[in-house]
Amino acid sequence: MRVTEGGVELEVPGEQTDGIEEAVFYNPRQELNRDLTIATLRAYREREARATSYLDAMTASGVRGVRAAADGWDVTCCDVDEQAVELARDNLERNDCEATVEHRNVNALMHDGPFDVIDLDPYGTPMPFADAAFANCRDLVCVTATDTAPLCGAHFNSGVRSYSAVPRNTDYHAEMGVRILISALARSAARFDVGVEPILTHATSHYVRTYLELEHKATSADAAIDELGHLYHCEDCLYREADPGLIADPLETCPHCDGNRMLTAGPVWLGPVQDSAFIAAVRDEIPYTFNTAPQARELCDTLAAELDEPTHYDQHKLCRNWGLPANAMDDFLADLRDAGYEASRAHYGGTTFKTDASVGEIRAATADSLE
Ligand SMILES: [Zn+2]
Repeated sequence: MRVTEGGVELEVPGEQTDGIEEAVFYNPRQELNRDLTIATLRAYREREARATSYLDAMTASGVRGVRAAADGWDVTCCDVDEQAVELARDNLERNDCEATVEHRNVNALMHDGPFDVIDLDPYGTPMPFADAAFANCRDLVCVTATDTAPLCGAHFNSGVRSYSAVPRNTDYHAEMGVRILISALARSAARFDVGVEPILTHATSHYVRTYLELEHKATSADAAIDELGHLYHCEDCLYREADPGLIADPLETCPHCDGNRMLTAGPVWLGPVQDSAFIAAVRDEIPYTFNTAPQARELCDTLAAELDEPTHYDQHKLCRNWGLPANAMDDFLADLRDAGYEASRAHYGGTTFKTDASVGEIRAATADSLE
């Protein structure tokens, strides 16, 4: 079947369905991810002028590589699957794009040569590729993780194995995934004396995507490790607390409700996951010719305005917990701000928000409007 996205035309196997087998070569549900990638690469070129080479590490149909090549990047496409390599070659030719196509183990390729930008877009966890990516990448590592159940603690053992961390299933599960993933990536990079700075991160339907700018200095790696810590979470009242540092000091009872159903998660990334100024630049690079432009621009607006707090709340879950009816989000957030707290929407869902208020302070600030 023939698909068009971002101005390139691709031949991909299979019928136009959301079936798993077709998704091995072309996943239509990831078009927003790819549109944002192209916009991010454009904005990144302005931020770091030396960045010219781009590795599409799991190229499959070649869609990312073709789109980056059409945008002027010096592209390498790699895949271990011979059929994928042929498909990528055909699709590059179909669009008159030049790129190097490698049929080999991408970990070996990444250890061999430097790339300015490496894009890891595997099915499942990206961790088997992280070390090789950080070993030789100069500027930017872009990572997709689709194993959201392990990342958020719903598939606990798998999450522990893949990320060498303890994820916990909470009401902010998608953000748990974001912070478990970046924690593991930061620790992988630190082994090579590389510090990571997440400049754009989003959790969208069934995947997490993050863009990590690298700094090749031991002190930067130390600074990244300093952003790690633990989250203590009360399953009864949804109180949560962030505790920086690699040594946990878990809470046995909840400081808010005195309950003892406390969870400890970590090490998680507690630092910023966005660079608002960079996201504004990315937003400006999303043309309306991209099929997902309205959603991608809206996502950028929400991300840029999101408070830098390590967890978010869901208004509906809080209100259910309190036995109170939810009101309009804008009124709810206005109550928080009127009470002197910071508050923003979060991109994790229509009723999610961030604030510097604790769960008790949120209730006190909003309860009058809810009853
Ligand atoms: Zn509690």
